[in-house]
Amino acid sequence: MQRCSKFPDFEIFQYVFSQDKGARQACLAPVAYGASTPSHDDHSCNIRARGREHREHIWKSRMDELKRLIRDIPDFPKPGIVFKDITTLLSNKRGFSRAIDTLANRYIDRDIDLVVGIESRGFIVGAALAYRLGAGVILVRKPGKLPFKTHSTIYELEYGTDQLEIHQDAIKPGQQVLIADDLIATGGTIKAAVDLVEKLKGNIVECAFLIELEFLKGRKKLDGYPVFSLLKF
Ligand code: AMP
Repeated sequence: MQRCSKFPDFEIFQYVFSQDKGARQACLAPVAYGASTPSHDDHSCNIRARGREHREHIWKSRMDELKRLIRDIPDFPKPGIVFKDITTLLSNKRGFSRAIDTLANRYIDRDIDLVVGIESRGFIVGAALAYRLGAGVILVRKPGKLPFKTHSTIYELEYGTDQLEIHQDAIKPGQQVLIADDLIATGGTIKAAVDLVEKLKGNIVECAFLIELEFLKGRKKLDGYPVFSLLKF
C-alpha cells in the first residue's frame, strides 16, 4: 500500500475506503473535477475526518455482525431473565476469532502478565485472550474447585448469590492483570474477582467483557477500575 508524503493519513484513507468504493469516489471528487482545490491543511483535515467516520462505521457494522451471533434465551435460568447465549458466537469460526482478536488488540502493548478468567465462560474468553497476548491464565472458580489454598469472596448475582475463589499464590504483587469474563450484568461477579486480585496485590489493567448489559449499570460497581466491553446491549 502506498503512502502519500503530504497526507500522512492517506494509507488509512485508502484502507478504509477500499471497502467502500462509493464513498472514496465522493471524497476525491472535488479534486478530480477541479472544483475549488482545498489547501493541504483543509484537505488532510477532511481526509482525517472522513477516515474517522468510516472507521467508526466499519467498527459498528463489525460489532453488529458479532451481536447477531449471540442468541437470546428468554426466561433462562429464571423467568424474567433474557440469557445471552454466546455458544452461537463461539461456534462461529470467524466470529470467535474476530471477537478475541479485537479484544486482544486493545491490550497488545500493555505488557499483560496474567489474564484472570472467571468460571466458567470467562475461562474461554480469558484463555483465548491470554494466548493471543502471550500471558498466563489464572482461574477464578466456584467454591471447592481449586485444589490449593484459596482466598474466597461472596457476592450477589443478577439471579441469587455466589462465591468465588482464587489460589493464594496465583498472582505476585505488581503483576499486570487483565480480568476477563463473557458478560457484565449487575457487576457483582466482576467486583468479586477484582477484590480477589486486589487481595493478591495484582495491578488491574482493565476488566474486559464480550458483552455488557448496559441497562443494569454493572460498571458502577467498578468505580475507578477501567472497564471495556465489546458488545453493548
Ligand atoms: P453479574 O454479576 O450480575 O454482572 O453477572 C455476570 C455473570 O453472570 C457472568 O459471568 C455471566 O456469565 C452471568 N450472567 C448474568 N446475567 C446474564 C445474562 N443475562 N446472560 C448470560 N449470562 C449472564
